[in-house]
Amino acid sequence: MPHYWPLLCVLILLNLTTSAAAESADDYGSVPVIDAQSDYPGAVTDRVAFLAEQGDRLSVEQVQSLIGRNPTVLTRPQTSVLVNGINSGAIWLAADVLNPTEELILRRVSVRTGWLERVDFFLLTEDRPPQHFVSGDQIPLDERSLAKRIPSADYPFPPGKTRLLLRIQTADPMLVPLYFSSITTSHGREHSETAFYSFVYGAMFALSAYNLMLFAGLRQRRYLFYSLYMGSYLAMTASYSGIGMALLWPNAVAWQQWAPPLLMLCFASAGLAFATNFLNTKRHQPRLHRAIQIFFGAYFALVTTCIALNEQGPALRLAFLVVPVFSALMLYMGVSSWLSGNQAARYFLLGTLASVVGASISALTVSGVIPYTQPGYYAVDIGMVLDAMLLALALADLVRRNEQARMTAERNARIDPLTGLNNRRGFLPVAESLWSLVSRKNRNICVVVIDIDHFKNINDQYGHAAGDRVLKNIAAELDRSRRKGDLLARWGGEEFTLLLPETDQAEAKKVAERFRHNIEQLVIPDRGKLIRCTISVGVASPHSEHVSLDHAIATADHNLYQAKVQGRNQVCIGSTSDEPEKDLPSAEKIR
Ligand code: GH3
Ligand code: MG
Ligand code: MG
Repeated sequence: MPHYWPLLCVLILLNLTTSAAAESADDYGSVPVIDAQSDYPGAVTDRVAFLAEQGDRLSVEQVQSLIGRNPTVLTRPQTSVLVNGINSGAIWLAADVLNPTEELILRRVSVRTGWLERVDFFLLTEDRPPQHFVSGDQIPLDERSLAKRIPSADYPFPPGKTRLLLRIQTADPMLVPLYFSSITTSHGREHSETAFYSFVYGAMFALSAYNLMLFAGLRQRRYLFYSLYMGSYLAMTASYSGIGMALLWPNAVAWQQWAPPLLMLCFASAGLAFATNFLNTKRHQPRLHRAIQIFFGAYFALVTTCIALNEQGPALRLAFLVVPVFSALMLYMGVSSWLSGNQAARYFLLGTLASVVGASISALTVSGVIPYTQPGYYAVDIGMVLDAMLLALALADLVRRNEQARMTAERNARIDPLTGLNNRRGFLPVAESLWSLVSRKNRNICVVVIDIDHFKNINDQYGHAAGDRVLKNIAAELDRSRRKGDLLARWGGEEFTLLLPETDQAEAKKVAERFRHNIEQLVIPDRGKLIRCTISVGVASPHSEHVSLDHAIATADHNLYQAKVQGRNQVCIGSTSDEPEKDLPSAEKIR
């Protein structure tokens, strides 16, 4: 049996109040007859007639005499499930059960709505004492006619006619799917319901518990809100479906009356807390965020007032008003966030859509607008399970996006945006480990430092943008000219550094000459003009394994200075000495 509260919310939303359907039902001239031999698999509310109690509570005798005097006081529901809206007065159902055999026929009469407060079953057979059974969620479980989550009564119908009268009273929505069937059929129904609920509760409980673990481990509040959102949905439906009372709080009658409005408050609050956190509404839609806070503050204050005044009815009506607003708000938040470019809102929106569509399909099925089907009947629960799974996916998707953004930021911190080459941060860690590896094995390695000649003039002559293009072209040319294992970086400004592993001084000179030559030959077109430039190159090769990379770079820089001093567009080479770095004149120092 699905939970009917979201269905009713959607009905309110769609303005499809089914009390209108009941009003338009045909008046029924006499008390309808049910064949005691029939074993109905589905709801049979359309096979009985009903009478709404107005004013004072009626006794069985009064109802009997009312029907006897004027059978047209009875109305026959048009659909197999009678829906009479929230806060309806008590209603009476009436039918004559006819047993044409000579035997007793045992039948179970049940109203498969878990939240009905009190259901009185009266069975009146001529020449027999009247029978009276009581059930409903205002009655502790072990005092009910049958200790079941839904009001039920077993009765062996004697031969002849038995009048069946049911008085149903609830402050919650009046929803009456009446069943009349054998015990075996009833058990079969209960088993399939149990299997279905086990799936729904199992899936949602697992997701809720898993996200609570994630919160415990990661300390990110969105996991906690998700867990609370799903957990409060479970608790709310447990209270409505009667499962809570059947399994968890069998005698807590007072709690059972307050649980639905309170848990609906928890559900809507946790849902919105999750949505605002997940979509970061505070940052992206501050006004909406403020409005939600004020709205929920007011809702919270009103519910608290209801609790203080012990007014359960208004609290419930408030909750039923808030839940459709909540659904609409969640959809609106999802759509607007997605339209404003938040890709992470995709799964959120899909999940919310699944629960709203599921609830709508069930509402339309139960109200008889679309033909009854089993999947249609259970759509609300299926929708909520889908919502739970899609929101879990949304959380995983958000983690993936954040991880990608972190990796991109990390990568960007190591890459020079203009040339796409490594910058110092990208170069140094790799260079350091290469350096120590090669030094340890006593292999050759060289450092090359390159500086563009008179680059300031290029900027002055052609403009800064042209200067940038020249830098990019030179970087690309150096990248093309280097060998595969050589490590290249933009050292800063118009300077580049290379590390040449497995390269002795003579080879390094050749490589550096090739660089110099290639750049000299390079012609960079810029707005009709052709720009040429040259580079000066300093090379250093360590002569002992104790020379540090820093020292080698300083030596190469010193050699670059020599190249500049000697007239630029040339390569200057030399081994690192054991002189301290500060004693070496460097290219840096002549600027
Ligand atoms: P030298 O031959 O002595 O190296 O002369 P130079 O003009 O190349 O050297 P100097 O250090 O005087 O000038 C370097 C210039 O490079 C100054 C600076 O504005 C320019 N520069 C540094 N980074 C960039 C950049 O990213 N883009 C452009 N367009 N210019 C840059
Ligand atoms: Mg320069
Ligand atoms: Mg320079």
